[in-house]
Amino acid sequence: MNFHVCTLFPEMIHQGCQASILGRAVIKQKITVETTDIRDFSTNKHMKVDDYPYGGGAGMVMQAEPVYAACRHVKDRLGENTRVIYLTPQGRVFNQEMAEEFSREENLIFLCGHYEGIDERVLEEVVTDYVSIGDYVLTGGELPAMVMIDAIARLVPGVLNNDVSADIESFHDNLLEYPQYTRPPVWHEKEVPPVLLSGHHANIEKWRYEQSVQRTAKWRPDLLEKHRKNNEK
Ligand code: SAM
Repeated sequence: MNFHVCTLFPEMIHQGCQASILGRAVIKQKITVETTDIRDFSTNKHMKVDDYPYGGGAGMVMQAEPVYAACRHVKDRLGENTRVIYLTPQGRVFNQEMAEEFSREENLIFLCGHYEGIDERVLEEVVTDYVSIGDYVLTGGELPAMVMIDAIARLVPGVLNNDVSADIESFHDNLLEYPQYTRPPVWHEKEVPPVLLSGHHANIEKWRYEQSVQRTAKWRPDLLEKHRKNNEK
């Protein structure tokens, strides 16, 4: 799968995506992460890409033409139907279901805003999806793009060592994951729940499901409601 990020700060994306599992996925050629520097498409002799907002107000706005030219440049290569995701606090809030949906695409283009955002007219022409990573305002779209790339990439076959592990994690079937333990069996006088050492797979599965339900009820009752509704059918 190919991730392409249009940004004013390509180095942030490269630094963020070169370590750990994402970095290995790039080396193993399971994913590619490329960037286009919007500033390269500035038409201004000082390479400026922003200007004052019409109507007044604080801050600067990224201009339509460099954003348009950068997105066109990438789309010409990846194909006209490639989805262009604008990271914005005003978008649909990203979740696991959306990560699963996006992971079925071959190519994705992320558009990162900065300052007060981007001229609305170019957004209307190039953006297919408006996505937020939560109800707070960040300084730029680069961290949100990396959050999305991380969540989507780990669903791409071969990125995680154990392909099944992405299926049974938190949010699968609207439940949070059960608690996890590893060696030693006793730590600070706390014992690992005996059922996990029993080797009895059916009992382990039953215990894990009960734990998932209990912690979802405690921390995310909204999810548990969805889980119960979906499993009633
Ligand atoms: N003036 C904009 C508003 O009130 O909606 C906020 C602009 S924000 C300071 C600058 C850029 O950061 C945005 O264009 C967007 O790309 C990114 N950004 C900020 N918060 C975000 C969030 N919660 N999710 C996704 N992107 C975000």
